[in-house]
Amino acid sequence: MAKPLPPLTTHHSVAIIGAGIAGLACGQVLASSGASVTLFDKARGPGGRMSSKRRPSATLDLGAQAFSVRDADFQRAVDEWLAAGCIATWPTRTYQASSSGWQAHNDGQKRYTGAPRMSALTRYMADSLTAQPNAELHTDTPIAKLTPAPNGWLLVDAGGARHGPYDHVVISAPPPQAHALIEPWDDTLAAACLT
Ligand SMILES: Cc1cc2nc3c(=O)[nH]c(=O)nc-3n(C[C@H](O)[C@H](O)[C@H](O)COP(=O)(O)OP(=O)(O)OC[C@H]3O[C@@H](n4cnc5c(N)ncnc54)[C@H](O)[C@@H]3O)c2cc1C
Repeated sequence: MAKPLPPLTTHHSVAIIGAGIAGLACGQVLASSGASVTLFDKARGPGGRMSSKRRPSATLDLGAQAFSVRDADFQRAVDEWLAAGCIATWPTRTYQASSSGWQAHNDGQKRYTGAPRMSALTRYMADSLTAQPNAELHTDTPIAKLTPAPNGWLLVDAGGARHGPYDHVVISAPPPQAHALIEPWDDTLAAACLT
């Protein structure tokens, strides 16, 4: 952002735009450190590209099907989610196509998926986060604009309602959507959204 921000302290308020897995994980870390956290998502529920749809005959994961672990911090989170029952190991074998057909492919990666569907994970993360007194989630709230205020940033939603001010704003929306919010305030960050 154009305006330099002071270092984050436990008294600070933070708005997070986007309640996909990235926004929820960010919110969890900030709320656990004592910051006051408010998440906004334009969708009816949290989850973003880890959402699922229930149909009478089946449940569909619309985005991510499975994920693997590459670092110790993420493994700790995965262990917590396994214990909570909102994810399970993915029991599918992987195959690789080549000119001689399909071969079983073992890349040594253990994979996990939401249980009973991918959205169970982001639902669990959202519920754990909003169980904290210093965190809240507003769904159905597309943020259309950021406006600097003397004491932070105001968020203006698509209906014109103002939220804030907040000391800090985190944008975890995908880059093209983040671009529209950042473009009036920071050329470098805005350009990075388009690369
Ligand atoms: C079809 C598909 C299959 C995939 N398969 C895999 C896979 O098998 N394994 C894997 O690891 N990854 C997979 N991915 C990628 C994975 O889903 C994403 O990397 C991950 O979910 C991104 O999370 P995120 O929180 O960064 O963003 P998102 O999940 O996109 O969350 C961003 C949130 O921001 C909200 N938002 C955007 N703009 C605004 C606004 N102006 N105001 C308010 N809210 C806003 C959106 O509604 C959304 O909820 C797949 C993705 C897709 C689409």
